[in-house]
Amino acid sequence: MTTTPDSVPAPPSAAHPVVDLRDVTRSYPGGVTALAGVDLTVRAGELLAIVGPSGSGKSTLLHIVGTLDRPTSGTVAIAGHDIASLGDRQLSALRARHIGFVFQAFHLVPGVSAQDNVAEGLLYSGLPRTKRRTMAAEALARVGLADRLGHRPHELSGGQKQRVAIARAVVGEPDLLLADEPTGALDTASGQAVVELLHDLNADGATIAVITHDHDLAARLPRRVRITDGRVIADEHSASPAAAPRKVAGR
Ligand code: ADP
Repeated sequence: MTTTPDSVPAPPSAAHPVVDLRDVTRSYPGGVTALAGVDLTVRAGELLAIVGPSGSGKSTLLHIVGTLDRPTSGTVAIAGHDIASLGDRQLSALRARHIGFVFQAFHLVPGVSAQDNVAEGLLYSGLPRTKRRTMAAEALARVGLADRLGHRPHELSGGQKQRVAIARAVVGEPDLLLADEPTGALDTASGQAVVELLHDLNADGATIAVITHDHDLAARLPRRVRITDGRVIADEHSASPAAAPRKVAGR
C-alpha cells in the first residue's frame, strides 16, 4: 500500500493486540488522578464493555484508547504502534485509519444525507468521492438502512441515526470501534437493536469496545472490564454471552 510522510504503517500484525495499555495513569491539574495504573489488552475480534459509574474514569480511558489524549505515565499501543513515538499528525493518521468512533449523541452532520454522512468516514482515505459514496451505501446496507440513503438526520429516528453513525464508524474497516454510551439516547427497543447490530458486526470480525455506565448493556457483551476510581477492578469473560433477542425491524 502507498504511504505518505504522515501515514502510519497500516497492518495490525496478528501478533499485536489492537489495544495494549500498560500501567497507564492520567492526572489532571488540581491533583485529580482519573486513571491510576490501568492495564488493558484488547485482541482482534473481541467485543467488550468498559463499565463503571460516573466519575470512574471511563471518558478519560476512552480518550486515551482513542488516541485523543496521552497518558501522564505508562504506555499505550494501538495496533502495535506505541503512541509515545508518534507526533500529533501521525497520531491523527493512526486514529483515522485504525479507530472508528460512535457517540451517544450521534454527531451526524445536519442537512446532509445518510450516504454522505457515512462517506465522511472515508474523508482521509484518499479514495475518490464516487468510491466513498459507493462504500457508504454498502455500509448503510450492512446496518439495515439500504432504503434510507438519501434521508437527512432530521428525517431519521434516533435508532436509525445511531445506525448511520455506526456505518460511518465502520465504513473504513477500522481495527477498533469505540462506542461511547451508544444506546444512551435511545428508547429500549432501538437500543436493543443497536446492541444486536454491534453483535452482528463483531460476528463479522469487528473489534468493538463499548464504554458505558449501564450494567444491563454491559451484561449483554461477552467481556466486561469494570473500572472504579480510575482502576480496573474486574475483567470478566462470559462463556456464553447473554443472548440478545433477534432483530427489531425498522427502528
Ligand atoms: P467518567 O467518564 O467515568 O464519568 P471521567 O473520566 O470523566 O469519568 O472523570 C474521571 C475523574 O477525572 C473525575 O473525578 C473527573 O472529575 C476528573 N476529570 C475529568 N476530566 C477532567 C479535567 N479535564 N480536568 C480535571 N479533572 C477532570
